[in-house]
Amino acid sequence: MSEELKPCLCGNNVSIHSYYGNVWYKVKCKCGIRNKAYKSRQDAINAWNNRPIEDSLRQQVSELIRQKMHLEVKVARLEKETDAALRQHIDDLIRRNIDLEAKVDRLEKSLSEKDMDR
Ligand SMILES: [Zn+2]
Repeated sequence: MSEELKPCLCGNNVSIHSYYGNVWYKVKCKCGIRNKAYKSRQDAINAWNNRPIEDSLRQQVSELIRQKMHLEVKVARLEKETDAALRQHIDDLIRRNIDLEAKVDRLEKSLSEKDMDR
C-alpha cells in the first residue's frame, strides 16, 4: 500500500501524526483539516486518500474542460465561417449596388434622350 498522501483540499501537503505511542494515527494539514484517528497508520492514509466525491468531481472537471476546449475550437471555426459568409454577402451586395447604379444611369440617360427627342 502506498504511503503517499493526497494534498489537502486547501492545496497544502499534509502529514501523518501518531498519538499515544503509535496507538492512533491521524492525517493533518496546517489549515486545520484532519481525519479521524485510526489504529493503523495505513488505515489513516487510506481514509485520507479515499475521497470518492472529490475524485468524481475532478473527473467531471476534466471532462468539462475537455468539452470547453472542444467548443472553443468549434466557436472559432464558426466565427471564421460566419466572417467569410458575411464578407461574401457584403461583396454580393456591393456588386448588386454597382449593377443597379449602372441600370439607373442607363435609364436616366435614356429618359433624357427621349426628352430631347420631343
Ligand atoms: Zn489544508
